[in-house]
Amino acid sequence: MGKYRDLTGQKFDRLTVVKYIGRNKINRGAIWLCECCCENKTKIEVEARRLKAGTKKSCGCLQRESITKHNLSRTRIYKIHKSMMDRCNNPNSKTNYDNYGARGIRVCEEWLGDEGFINFYKWSLENGYDDLLTLDRKDVNGNYEPENCRWATKKEQGNNRRDNTLIKHNGEVKTLSQWAEKAGLHISTLLNRIKRGGDLAVILSTPPQKAKKQSNIKGIIWAERYQKWHLLIRENKKRKHVGYYVNLEDAIKAKDMYLKIREVNNNGTGKM
Ligand SMILES: [Zn+2]
Repeated sequence: MGKYRDLTGQKFDRLTVVKYIGRNKINRGAIWLCECCCENKTKIEVEARRLKAGTKKSCGCLQRESITKHNLSRTRIYKIHKSMMDRCNNPNSKTNYDNYGARGIRVCEEWLGDEGFINFYKWSLENGYDDLLTLDRKDVNGNYEPENCRWATKKEQGNNRRDNTLIKHNGEVKTLSQWAEKAGLHISTLLNRIKRGGDLAVILSTPPQKAKKQSNIKGIIWAERYQKWHLLIRENKKRKHVGYYVNLEDAIKAKDMYLKIREVNNNGTGKM
């Protein structure tokens, strides 16, 4: 045993030296067992030179305290953590509890409780957090936990929402929204076409029918997005939505009916 200055009982910030442990095998530095004065009374082994240089001042509690809820409560991550907690744990909140907590989706232990936010904050920074990204669960039926969460773009998240509907075509497996994007179709157009049935190759290669369908009747236009006829009537220089119709005939009937009722109302209340 070489010579060393006895540090037993000395205090270095939060660490009090308890006893000598031995030499560091690599650099021969003296290692001391220290106890931290924080509530955990954690015991750790520290090299003498680090104690003297002040590069190790606590068991790690000092660093943890420097990241407090207080100075992070205005961050975006704080808001995201709060709304996640509300969705899963607060039936009285207006944050969609029905689709989360009520469906059994939970927040993991690590992200709950007093240290929960700090743990979530650290996890976020270590896992690619960015102000433009949103918190996404890989398995939409899974819990909020590190293994099931990631920071994703809105688009990635959108893809994920439809991950239950994977479609294999020409040896490629894609989500509905990925197929729609590839084919240059609006996702609802693709969904409607699939519902109506037919060969997927044809469905994907048929271009969107932009403005091809025309009623030639004032106020009735084809709504590609809903695959329905849209009746709009001019009133006080504004176009007023009346309804969507599968058949053009129904849209025409609705238009006639609407105009008749309007005429009756105008005559009833109108000029003498
Ligand atoms: Zn400590």
